Amino acid sequence: MLEKALSEKNESVQRDVLYSLVFFYVNSRNWEKTDWLFEKFAENDEIKSTIFIHAFAVSLISKHNDDKELISRLVSALTDKSKEIRDSVAEILGKAKAELNITASKEAIKNIVCALEEDEKRDNILEYLYYFSEIKENAELLLTLLKKVKSDQKISLLIKTCEEVLNGKHIRSCNICKYLPRHKYYESVDEKSKKLLLKLYPKISEETTYSLSKCPECGNYYKYSYSYEYESPFDGGRRVDTTTLERLAPTELLKELKGMELEQYKADYERIIEKQKSNLFSLERYIREDAARALELLNLTIDQNDFDRKLSSL
Ligand SMILES: [Zn+2]
Repeated sequence: MLEKALSEKNESVQRDVLYSLVFFYVNSRNWEKTDWLFEKFAENDEIKSTIFIHAFAVSLISKHNDDKELISRLVSALTDKSKEIRDSVAEILGKAKAELNITASKEAIKNIVCALEEDEKRDNILEYLYYFSEIKENAELLLTLLKKVKSDQKISLLIKTCEEVLNGKHIRSCNICKYLPRHKYYESVDEKSKKLLLKLYPKISEETTYSLSKCPECGNYYKYSYSYEYESPFDGGRRVDTTTLERLAPTELLKELKGMELEQYKADYERIIEKQKSNLFSLERYIREDAARALELLNLTIDQNDFDRKLSSL
């Protein structure tokens, strides 16, 4: 009956029906029907992204449906002709990897490895493949497939990662930091964030207003600050809490650290900066972004010093 309603003339009713159908088929793992519907709208980018990809994402993330068939359909969309679809799928898979197994079928992996030749698609594909390679048997498959692809710096990095996964030497980025954006602002801290915060700040209490902490797993530094203020009585007089968490760059740390900790950091500073340069090529997005920011801030400080010197010599 629902299928009949698809031919409904009212467009918004038709869309709602389509969404419900796709969501229903995906959750009941009826892939034949899902594909049948998808084929009907395969040329319509707008419907693909707002209905199909959206239903896939909701099923994956909120229903924790990491059926390989579903993952494979999402992964195949990494080669879609629409950039918007490719980017949103990459983001969905990036989020899901934290809690779910995002392994796609062999067939889907073969297809996206072939698409690595297409420049505009490769960054999203490489990022997914990097997470995919986390499991040994995946790394093995990927290694065989990558040998047939024209290599460059990023591909050789992925090959190296696969080899390291296979011989047990690969160290993944930190399990705490990879879930935290560089700068996070909370109006109220939910349970999941609270757990992460406690890993960084085991002694945090309601009275803490400022604290600097080092990630116990990888050594990144964070600045935590908390404050509150009351709105004016005209606005309702409510108390507004503000909590921010910020991952600091090396140049910022030189200003924040004190005493022995600062001395140690300075002694290690050159090595830390060198590491940022190689991190620019990391296949993990947050590490790349942190490195770019760290080096940008470093350049700004160097320019500022240069400027100060020139000024004093006038
Ligand atoms: Zn960390």
